[in-house]
Amino acid sequence: MFTKCSVKPFEKKVYLSSPTMHGEELKFMTEAYETNWMSTVGANINEVEKEIAEKIGVRYAVALSAGTASLHLAMKLAGITPGTKVFCSDMTFSATLNPVVYEGGVPIFIDTEYDTWNMDPVALNKAFELYPDVKHIVVANLYGTPGKMDEIRAIADKYGAVIVEDAAESFGATYKGQQTGTFGDIGVISFNGNKIITGSSGGMLLTNDLDQANKARKWSTQARENAPWYQHEEVGYNYRMSNVIAGVVRGQIPYLEEHIAQKRAVYERYREGCKGLPVRMNPFDAENSVPNYWLSCMIIDKEAMCKQVRGETDYCYVSEKGKSCPQEILDALAAINAEGRPIWKPMHMQPIYRMNAFVTRDGNGRARTNAYIAGGVLDVGMDIFSRGLCLPSDNKMTPDQQDKIIQVIRACFQ
Ligand SMILES: *Cc1c(COP(=O)(O)O)cnc(C)c1O
Repeated sequence: MFTKCSVKPFEKKVYLSSPTMHGEELKFMTEAYETNWMSTVGANINEVEKEIAEKIGVRYAVALSAGTASLHLAMKLAGITPGTKVFCSDMTFSATLNPVVYEGGVPIFIDTEYDTWNMDPVALNKAFELYPDVKHIVVANLYGTPGKMDEIRAIADKYGAVIVEDAAESFGATYKGQQTGTFGDIGVISFNGNKIITGSSGGMLLTNDLDQANKARKWSTQARENAPWYQHEEVGYNYRMSNVIAGVVRGQIPYLEEHIAQKRAVYERYREGCKGLPVRMNPFDAENSVPNYWLSCMIIDKEAMCKQVRGETDYCYVSEKGKSCPQEILDALAAINAEGRPIWKPMHMQPIYRMNAFVTRDGNGRARTNAYIAGGVLDVGMDIFSRGLCLPSDNKMTPDQQDKIIQVIRACFQ
């Protein structure tokens, strides 16, 4: 129970990030209904593919049923087959790299850097020294913040590796003026209900290669050959976006910039409101990148962390004067009916991936983890996981509600 302050809970829950509808979505959904294109074919699909491709600055966008489905087809296009070793972001949502495993590939996790909370190019370079034969990289832009894409691209080119870029969280964010989702050989965005714009579900595969776009379209619609009957030379999937979902996406596209501006305002209010506390907001490279501010996160200074222990499915902490920890703040937020979330727990710490290799700046990360257990230093991902958290970042949160949330956060450090 949280006892450092008592604030009246919100009557209506303040969400981490919830869908924001504007009206046009219903118009395009109704159009699908009235023209009877209640299918995976129709005007909305054609239109969103065109609009998103233009917006992102990529030749082809293929509308699919989810970001995860798009990642799956991206892995197939990238040539991942059983046994293929793949360098993957470590601190990310599991959907970034589960599709590697769908194809029988073997993720090797690359540690995170502190500047943007994304894949560390230094650790990636180290990984190529350890595994020079690897030809695939799967990299995510976390919480809407672009990673060090130039450096990652340079390393990929040096070793002749293909990049799959997971821009599911970062749609609309730019790095050196270029949209995320265009830095990989294949890119992916998501329209999941909590993303910056949504279709309720859905995703897209992005590519400049017509042959890849055609393959993704074919595979996503059961891989039919051009024949009078159902003729199959390849395994197919039912991954195409519905024309009704595409209607929702179509209605949302004009609001991308507005959502980003609102999310940015949320981020900046937290930054201002938390001034003087031993915390920092999730960082980005202000010179080269413009995030979409999808989630506002913060990280607590080491000296200001109270004792916090996490098991596989439970936690405990010791509340302390002048100090706090993510689990205490998350409890405090839950107590006022506001939704926060821990940072993505790094993949190398997940039971399902415990046997996979993990590479840090100085080499074998598994050795690092063992050293930590023996009293050494945490790897970067585990450090951010243990000291960081995602704050309620809903674009519909009012300044009054956010002030109350900030008051509760401040109270945690009393
Ligand atoms: C949401 C998300 C996905 C998956 O997208 P879905 O559309 O939900 O399948 C993949 N990667 C990251 C980093 C995500 O946040």
